[in-house]
Amino acid sequence: MAGVAPVSVGILGVTGSIGTQALDVIRAFPDRFRLVAVSGHTNSLGLAAIANEFRPERVAVGSADQVAIIRKHMDYDPVIEVGESGLVALATHPMDQLVVAIVGTAALPAVVAAIPHVPHIALANKEVLVAAGSRIMAMVRAHGTRLIPVDSEHSAVFQCLAAVDFNRDRIHHMTLTASGGPFWGRDPHTFDTITPAEALRHPNWDMGSKISVDSATMVNKGLEVIEAHHLFDMAWDRIRVVVHPQSIVHACIETVDGAILAHMGRPDMRYPIQYAMTYPERWATPFKQDGLTALSGLEFFEPDRDAFPWLDLAICCGKAGGVMPIVFNAANEVAVPLFLNGQVSFMGMYDTIRRILDAYAAETVVTIADIIELDKRVKNHVTIRNSLV
Ligand code: NAD
Ligand code: MG
Repeated sequence: MAGVAPVSVGILGVTGSIGTQALDVIRAFPDRFRLVAVSGHTNSLGLAAIANEFRPERVAVGSADQVAIIRKHMDYDPVIEVGESGLVALATHPMDQLVVAIVGTAALPAVVAAIPHVPHIALANKEVLVAAGSRIMAMVRAHGTRLIPVDSEHSAVFQCLAAVDFNRDRIHHMTLTASGGPFWGRDPHTFDTITPAEALRHPNWDMGSKISVDSATMVNKGLEVIEAHHLFDMAWDRIRVVVHPQSIVHACIETVDGAILAHMGRPDMRYPIQYAMTYPERWATPFKQDGLTALSGLEFFEPDRDAFPWLDLAICCGKAGGVMPIVFNAANEVAVPLFLNGQVSFMGMYDTIRRILDAYAAETVVTIADIIELDKRVKNHVTIRNSLV
């Protein structure tokens, strides 16, 4: 594409699963993307290696003690930002596009800061929409920001909706698929013996640890229903979930005139990441699909809502609105590492969230600052409570 200026890109959470796959997309199109800003959190050496390869002008690290380490391992001299304020500074760096690949509501201040400044945001993070979806979507509309989902189901819905000109009146409902995770079909009476290693072993996707555990509990699908509600302004009873163990159909929409439009593909996040980064164009990808015959043998089931009570609890919190989805998400963000560290059992993650929801149900939030404050308070509460047990 001689003569066309490359798209300048920032990636928040560049050292993670989505972040490194976004780098694969940039590597696939070296003349068409230019990486200008990146953030990591604790992996200083990984971040230094990425910076040396792509030479972004600005790099953010999680804490001040990492600055000397990263400088020592870098062979050039970018601006280095530190901590939460550093992330916000990075998010407002002049650029055409920002990929948000941080896990958790830690991304919220940066997303809010980026919306007025960056014209195109590829959003992988779902927790910020769960905690602050209506406010974020209102900001996106007010600033005319292009917010493209990276999450595979939402990318799939987004691509299907193009077939009905994004007119929601033309669809009856949308369906998000769930793999069912590693414990689909396992006797729920044995759930308390589940180990972190088992929960991290996702059958189809290779992902970060938090979303892997969320997939094992089906919290992930609950968060995704809330994400879809906000992204597509879709009524709760028009968003359905089916278990599809092969993870080939990522989502479908059923039109009012009886068609089922499904989006299919091998479970590989590089496709939805590339789509979100190149939208509204489609660029010839080097990541090749297997073709239909390799994708056969598809099965679809109703979710087991008794074995995985997190799913309905999350959706119920989404529907209730107010502080409920914020508290659900914050409690879950702490419950997952507690489980991974052996401090609570698999089902203990559910009990932890339930108890904390009761404690905060009467609270209210108005602004995004209120949401950030409540999110931190809930996380501290869950952490302290469990360190005392
Ligand atoms: P990951 O754990 O692999 O990477 C997370 C990134 O966020 C890392 O770069 C880490 O340094 C950074 N980070 C972590 N805590 C931070 C903090 N407090 N402040 C700043 N940065 C911090 O996670 P992932 O699997 O890449 O997931 C990222 C997001 O994308 C999540 O919201 C997840 O739900 C969503 N997502 C992931 C996948 C996937 O396949 N991995 C698919 C769909 C959606
Ligand atoms: Mg998903």
